[in-house]
Amino acid sequence: MQIQAVRGFRDVLPGEVALWQKVEAIARSVLERYGFREIRIPILEKTELFSRSIGESTDIVEKEMYTFTDRSGISLTMRPEATAGILRAYIEHSLYQLEPVSKLYCIGPMFRHERPQRGRYRQFHQINAEVLGSSDPRTDAELLALLRTLFEELGLRELDFQLNSLGCPSCRPGFRSKVAEYLGTKRARLCSDCQRRLMTNPLRVYDCKVETCREALAGAPVILDELCQECEAHFLSVQKNLSLLGIPFSVNPFIVRGLDYYRRTTFEVLSSDLGAQNAVCGGGRYDGLMGELGGPDLPGIGFAIGEERLVSILEGRAGAPTSSLDLFLAALGEEATEKAFLYLDKARRLGLRAEMDFRGGSLKAQMRRANKLGSRRLLILGEAELSKGMATVKDMADGTQVEIPLDELESAMAGWKEACSQRG
Ligand code: AMP
Repeated sequence: MQIQAVRGFRDVLPGEVALWQKVEAIARSVLERYGFREIRIPILEKTELFSRSIGESTDIVEKEMYTFTDRSGISLTMRPEATAGILRAYIEHSLYQLEPVSKLYCIGPMFRHERPQRGRYRQFHQINAEVLGSSDPRTDAELLALLRTLFEELGLRELDFQLNSLGCPSCRPGFRSKVAEYLGTKRARLCSDCQRRLMTNPLRVYDCKVETCREALAGAPVILDELCQECEAHFLSVQKNLSLLGIPFSVNPFIVRGLDYYRRTTFEVLSSDLGAQNAVCGGGRYDGLMGELGGPDLPGIGFAIGEERLVSILEGRAGAPTSSLDLFLAALGEEATEKAFLYLDKARRLGLRAEMDFRGGSLKAQMRRANKLGSRRLLILGEAELSKGMATVKDMADGTQVEIPLDELESAMAGWKEACSQRG
């Protein structure tokens, strides 16, 4: 029987990869311009790292983690998000001793056992960025500025930046009891998950997509009315700095995010090009988390961009990159094929993207193949060429042909490489 991929796990096929590479190259370039350095962390971590940081009563920890006991009896989890692992590494290697503020990024797969649907997978990829050591509201604005630059360079302009503040341990508990009290009166209208959340984590109800729960929330208390003075000043300053940088945003007091560690600023970036799963990016501040994980009490803020969703917005847009070939070598006859095979390797060592078809076939068939691969040049080595010690080179765009002596072929190829590099 044929074995298929696991449900919710996707292959990214060669035809799609060019777009992923473009997204990642632009992301790396922008992140590095804003002072971020890459960190690579393991996919497996001790389960406790996630239950302690994300929160026991969150959807992720309650029902979405890929957790198993390994052969030495330790409970391990495939990372559902990157922040916890980055903080673990930061603390474990005392990176805080190297610089007062660290800006780290990481790109890679995350795993959540969610119900798969368009835009939601069980293995998905995130571009994560974290700033550790700064509580300055300018840092919050700087992260959103980075996102604006990144989305602009990807050609995405019609995105909606939504912002909220979730308060801190001095103002959130009061808000939480108000929410619990308010929702207690609407209990019967809440879905069964939210009735349970009412006991464990009432703020989670703000995240629920069920229509009756959303209706029950109309008139619910709003965190922004309950912020303490420090949190309010911080939030106002974030907004002032965003305005200074000309970054359009709206305040949405219903953004609570699915992870418990958030504090103060939280944000989401939404795209109208996506269906129900319209968030391209989510993030926020998590001052306090580092201390809870046993590290120094340093503040932090970060975001995660969903790569699948970015790629799906960019798919089908004009200018999606296609990979093409610099040179296709067509050979006729055994001796010419052997020579072409040698020049194929020389071309590649000179830096050209070169290909030939070992099945041989007629010149016409090989030209069709060159066309299909989008080759810029076709090099023909037939018996006639070989006897003259020449190769015919055809420019596939304008159809012009030249003959090049075989002993000058290598330097000609080096010249093509030079021209490719100049064209970029
Ligand atoms: P979160 O880590 O839940 O804050 O998510 C950050 C971003 O990751 C979201 O805005 C999505 O773009 C993306 N994302 C989260 N979960 C999934 C999923 N199951 N499948 C695809 N993308 C996801």
